[in-house]
Amino acid sequence: MDELDERLKQAAQILYASKHNVVLTGAGISVESGIPDFRSPGGLWERYDIMEYGTISAFRSDPEKVWKMLSEMEDVVRKARPNAAHKALAQLERWGVLDVVITQNIDGLHQDAGSGNVIEFHGNSKTLTCLWCHRRYGIDEVGETCSPRCECGRYLKPDVVLFGEAIPADALNRSFGAASSCGALLVIGTSAQVAPASTIPVVAKRAGAVVIEINLAPSLLTSQTTDVFLQGRAASLVPALVERVGEILGDQGRAVDGGKPAGANASCGPPDA
Ligand SMILES: [Zn+2]
Repeated sequence: MDELDERLKQAAQILYASKHNVVLTGAGISVESGIPDFRSPGGLWERYDIMEYGTISAFRSDPEKVWKMLSEMEDVVRKARPNAAHKALAQLERWGVLDVVITQNIDGLHQDAGSGNVIEFHGNSKTLTCLWCHRRYGIDEVGETCSPRCECGRYLKPDVVLFGEAIPADALNRSFGAASSCGALLVIGTSAQVAPASTIPVVAKRAGAVVIEINLAPSLLTSQTTDVFLQGRAASLVPALVERVGEILGDQGRAVDGGKPAGANASCGPPDA
């Protein structure tokens, strides 16, 4: 048995044995859904200067200019579909082995895959708000125009957290509440470089959680915070991990699959193998 397989089994056993498990996801889980990491070479932040296009003050002073970047982002997100990793996490939740997904992504793919309890740490791109009159719109209400406006005539802003904007208080409180009371934290596809999300694993660890990390390369967490490091693609390792949890549940005589998923999204099948 190779080392990775051994670690997958170890991680699955931890998830099975722990209560109130939490997942923290970042850009790496959505790459194989067609959304490149905005920070990677060729990503959004290489082509658009963050200070010029990515901050709330840039949006307030020249929303039309910032919408050049936002419409490109919306276009990529609109076409994306959940991959095997998103679907596997939804399955883990249906089995009662996962309580909550905290995501730094704004793509809504966890919900699309069937996850019911998702905290969007950096907001989402499915709704837009007018900063002036506070009216809120769904993405379908504004169509595919490249810089949608409110009824009041001002530009709308997608509910994604821009640089310089506060993390929504509810998301912040719920995330740190979950982190400080979880048995295991599964970190997927994030190098944990952007605060305050980057401190979630540290908070969980200090509170006694076991930290499992799935990343393409070692991160800032790997040597200091992580207990079990699984190196590789999220779209292959997350389903592999969830499959092993399923084997343990099966061995323990607990219902696995076969039955109907308890989640709202009944059309979502078991994780892709
Ligand atoms: Zn308005």
